[in-house]
Amino acid sequence: MGTLNASMCVCGQIFIPPKQRCIICTGKTEPREINDTGNIMTYTVLQVAHDGFDAPLILGIVELDVSADKNDEIGKIAANPKIICQGQVPEKDLRIGMKVKVKKIDDIYIFMKMGI
Ligand SMILES: [Zn+2]
Repeated sequence: MGTLNASMCVCGQIFIPPKQRCIICTGKTEPREINDTGNIMTYTVLQVAHDGFDAPLILGIVELDVSADKNDEIGKIAANPKIICQGQVPEKDLRIGMKVKVKKIDDIYIFMKMGI
């Protein structure tokens, strides 16, 4: 399983991409690696795309799987981070709740089927 770079504040907020300061409590954050897997919360398919993108363009919000691990106090995580991703999954296969893997290529987060 892979990881993504994120940051975490002592108040439990996780930021991806990483932020140096927490937007909730303004505290300083620490770098943290999180699992690169999650679930599609919602998505849309754009039939017209901006220059540099091919249509149809799939955009989705992925809720990443982040759970307390041995380095965290139980319940420390405020909420699982959610990020907007470009989808690299055939449109016919897209499902809300589908388990996906997220990868960052240049500055764009992309979701794809598990096992790729
Ligand atoms: Zn905070």
